[in-house]
This record gives sequence, C-alpha cells and structure tokens, in this order.
Amino acid sequence: MTASLIRTRYAPSPTGYLHVGGLRTALYNYLFAKKAGGKIILRVEDTDRTRLVEDAVPNFIDIFNWLGIEFDEGPRIGGEYGPYVQSERLELYREHLRQLADQGLAYPCFCSAERLQQMRDTQIKSGQPPMYDRACRNLSAEESARRIAQGEAHVWRMAVPDKQLVEVQDLIRGDVSFESSTIDDQVLLKSDGYPTYHLANVIDDHRMKISHVIRGEEWLPSTPKHVLLYKFFNWDLPRFAHLPLLLNPDRSKMSKRSGDVAVEDYRRKGTLPDALINFVALLGWHPSDDREIFSLAELVSEFSLERVNKAGAVFDTTKLAWMNAEYIKRESDEELTSHILPLISESAKSELSERLEFTVATLRGGTEAYQSLADRISELAAPLGETDAEMMALLESAEAASFLKEFTAGIEAIPADTWNRFENLADSFKELAKASGKSYGMKGKTLWMTLRAALTGQPHGPELPKLIGIWGRARTLQQLNTAVHYASQAISE
Ligand code: GLU
Repeated sequence: MTASLIRTRYAPSPTGYLHVGGLRTALYNYLFAKKAGGKIILRVEDTDRTRLVEDAVPNFIDIFNWLGIEFDEGPRIGGEYGPYVQSERLELYREHLRQLADQGLAYPCFCSAERLQQMRDTQIKSGQPPMYDRACRNLSAEESARRIAQGEAHVWRMAVPDKQLVEVQDLIRGDVSFESSTIDDQVLLKSDGYPTYHLANVIDDHRMKISHVIRGEEWLPSTPKHVLLYKFFNWDLPRFAHLPLLLNPDRSKMSKRSGDVAVEDYRRKGTLPDALINFVALLGWHPSDDREIFSLAELVSEFSLERVNKAGAVFDTTKLAWMNAEYIKRESDEELTSHILPLISESAKSELSERLEFTVATLRGGTEAYQSLADRISELAAPLGETDAEMMALLESAEAASFLKEFTAGIEAIPADTWNRFENLADSFKELAKASGKSYGMKGKTLWMTLRAALTGQPHGPELPKLIGIWGRARTLQQLNTAVHYASQAISE
C-alpha cells in the first residue's frame, strides 16, 4: 500500500463530551495517518437518535481546534466522500441493506421488545450469553413480505452463517478468531429506518476508503460482525488496530463516567493543550527511548502502531500534572503572564498592574497549573485579613519600635531597580533585617516574627521578601509606616 492511500478516521457518536479515551483514539489515528503522509477523516456517527446531545459536534470541533489536531475531511471541512454525518446518508445504508436482503444475508425480524426481553432474561438465568434466537430467520419469504406490506414494525438482522471461524487480524492484538455460533444475528436496520452502528460503520469505512480502522478495544467484539459484513458485500477488509483499555490507577476499567475524563474539564482547569496531547500519546504507546516530552510534530515522526501495547494503560493524573508543569516551565515569564491573566482576580490585576510579570517571575517555580498560580497571586495581592493580637503584641516594645523605624528607612532607601529584581530585593531585605536587628538586639525567630507582624499582622503567610516584591515599594512602605506608627503609639500609652 502506498503512503498516499493511508486513510484513517475518528468516528465519534455525538452522545456527549469528548473524553480522554476518545481523544487518544483521535490522536493515534491522526499520528498514524500523518506519519504516513495520509489523511484523517472526522465522521459523525449519529444513528442512535435516542442518545443525541445537541452541541456535541461543535464542541468536538472546538476542542480539536484548541488542541491543534486538524482533520483533512469531515463535517464543515468537506471532502470527496461526504456527507460526513451518518444521518445525512440514510438512503445509502437502506440501499445496501436491500442488497443483503436480496441475497438472503439479511432478514426482517418482527419480534416485539417484550419477547426479546423475555428471551434475554431466560438466557441469562440459565447462564447462556444473551443472543437472538433467530425465530424470524425461518419465516417464509411470503410471510415476511405480507407482514411488511401490512405495516408491521420490524428490524433487519444479519444472517450470520453457521459454523464458520471468523478471523480478525489485528495490528496490535495479532490474530483473534471467533466461532460464528457466538456471533449474534445483529440488527442492521432499526424499525425507525436508521442503520445500526455496525451497518453504517462498515459501509462508510468502505465508501470513504478507510485503510486503517484504529479504535478502542471495546470494539473488538464487534469486529467479527464487521468482517462478516465486508464478506457479505464482497469488499476488501481494512486493517484493524484495537487500542488498549484505559485504566484507573487501581487498574479498574476507566469508564466515560469516571471522574475527570472530559477533555473540556482539563481545558477549563488550565491544562496546556500540548501537555495534554503529550500525556495522552503515552497512554498505550511508548517511544523507542526514554524520552517523555514530545511536541505534536515529534509524535508524528516517532509514532508507530508496533509500539502500542496490548496491556491496559493507566491514566495517572499525577503524571499529567507533572507533564503540565514541564510545559509551563518552558514558557517565558511574558507568555505565562498572558496565560494566567484571565484567571487572576480583578482586584489583584489592578493592585499589581505593571508588577504582574515580576510577580509571575517570582512565584512561578514549581507551578503545576495556571489556576493554582493565579489563585496564589490573587491571594497575595488581596487586602490583608484581620490582625492577630499575639502577633501585634510583638510590636509593642521600645526595641521593636526603633528596630522597625530603622528597617523602614533602609527599605525606603532601596534603589528602584532593585525592586524589579527579585533575588536582589530578597538579599537587600535580609541584610537590612539583620543589620537593624543587630542594632536593637533582635535576631532569629523574634526578628522574623516581628517583621511578619509589622507586614501582615498574621502568624503565617508567604515568605516576606516575596510578599514585598509583589506589593511593590508603595504598598510595602505604607504597611511598614503603619506598623511603626502602631509601635510608637503602643509604647507612649
Ligand atoms: N461511533 C463509534 C464510537 O463512538 C465508533 C467506533 C469505531 O471507531 O468504529 O465510538
């Protein structure tokens, strides 16, 4: 097969949000196609009308734009093999169903929902796998035609052949074979005239010239049905690759309903798109060396299905947090500032104004998420809470008053450019504190607690040099002068 013929697809059902498993499937399809110079198609599988979620498609598209994953063909994009929404292709499916019916490969089934339920209950009770008992398969052509003509509700099922071994060759799992007696006479066309997933999926993969079907392992049991359908139609099979399950850290199966699986939630929490892609790429695939950080372009050149494991991949949010921190580390102060700006409180924005980038530079170390850095900045820039009486008592002595006066004068004399360089400011702060402390016999814990009392009035809080760096000269001096005044008042009373 030449490179230009590689065509993959991501075929979500618009039944909800994009979850991390869906993203992994889309990403692997993208990487595989792009590496081969091929195309990736977005196809909307909306044949289950009862589970449709409005806005699901625009949401998918919006998220893929955010992630920088571009499809070559799809709804809104167009392409030679459209429409790319299954509900717009109904006639095609019906026509193919007729072909199967004409050859006796599909038959109408009139069984009521109640009968099917009863049958299933009995099978489960006796420990058998629930499967259609083929009651309608033996109806005569005349009877079926008469009942259809009378308008009786019916579905169309596939006539699975007896005693055949159906082989699925899977690029990840190897050869898997299924005994046809274990394959259900699957419904292909529902009573509402819509195809089921199986029929529409096979027809579209064929018509859209999909060369590789790459999807989650949960679809493996459906694949023998698909293989049979390809045979019924006399079509070449695509290659199949079923991706390993995603597991929770306790190795239980991760479902769409587990917490924290919506890609949108990660976006809202400030996860970087590149970090999320990098993290998701490693859920089942591993590179040839022990590198962990890959851009999308690097993933394209490194990716191969041979390096996708069979074993389930653990979705470890701690690792995602680490990965995100790695990407944040690579941002300049200016980039990081612009990214967290929308997450900082309005009051902090106006309080910090041109000191914001300095503040980011001072506090960014070890940041795992934009939101946590933004929260920290908002908190530090906020007005101080109530003072603590015990702390304030530390200021109520003649030594403390004189010490603070001298220290404040020292702070006032710090040159302007030192205020803009955190390391220098921190050094000046410590030197001044020690020097003024020495003049009045204050050192160690007493010295630092007195300064903390003067600056915040509270026993706990951020490192003082950081705090004054964020406040800037004016607010720091205002705070210190208030403390000097308080101390002088206290001793004169
Ligand atoms: N519509 C199916 C899904 O949601 C597609 C499965 C497949 O890729 O064949 O996930």
